[in-house]
Amino acid sequence: MVSTENEERKRKRALELAERYPASKEILEFYAALFGYDSDWPALKARLLEIAPAPMREQCTLGLQPGSVFQRILQRQNPLSVQATGINQCPQCAHLPQCAVLRPEGEGRELFLVCSQCSDEWPFGRAQCPACLMTDEKSLSFYKAEQFPHIQTLLCEKCYSYLHIIDCASDPNAIPEVDELACTPLDIWAREQGYSKLTLNIAGV
Ligand SMILES: [Zn+2]
Ligand SMILES: [Zn+2]
Repeated sequence: MVSTENEERKRKRALELAERYPASKEILEFYAALFGYDSDWPALKARLLEIAPAPMREQCTLGLQPGSVFQRILQRQNPLSVQATGINQCPQCAHLPQCAVLRPEGEGRELFLVCSQCSDEWPFGRAQCPACLMTDEKSLSFYKAEQFPHIQTLLCEKCYSYLHIIDCASDPNAIPEVDELACTPLDIWAREQGYSKLTLNIAGV
């Protein structure tokens, strides 16, 4: 089954990144443990309460409240079909992007936004803020850290939002929704500079 293969690829990538990035180990191992439960909700809940990192354990007890980890996991499996009204919203389910991805396209790279809910991707301009949509290139900057050679963080000085861009052209094994979870040190850095993440990830970071 294609979807199972795909899930196995995500799970393996998360465990591989957990070894490479100790600061994100807990989050990545948590994410890897989410696979394989389908709709066995009680089994998943029991497992999450066992393994969730401390700040998330309380969230796990909230069950199906809107915005809770569980609700996001369940909706990820059965995304709602809602009409997008903005170019920064997923065409499938209207959620905002979790991150962006660069994919090889001819001689260059094309940028896509990645849905925070269903992981669908849609093309987006490279010189535009995915949060406030302004197109003044001078207000956008890109931060890179040595330990993340295939990731850059896009910062907007108009709305003080940020999001990570995963470059799949420089690391073909990268999976945007998984690699985004490895970015904890970049998240800490961006917040220290006064920026807020456009959409918190499934681990609440
Ligand atoms: Zn979506
Ligand atoms: Zn902006």
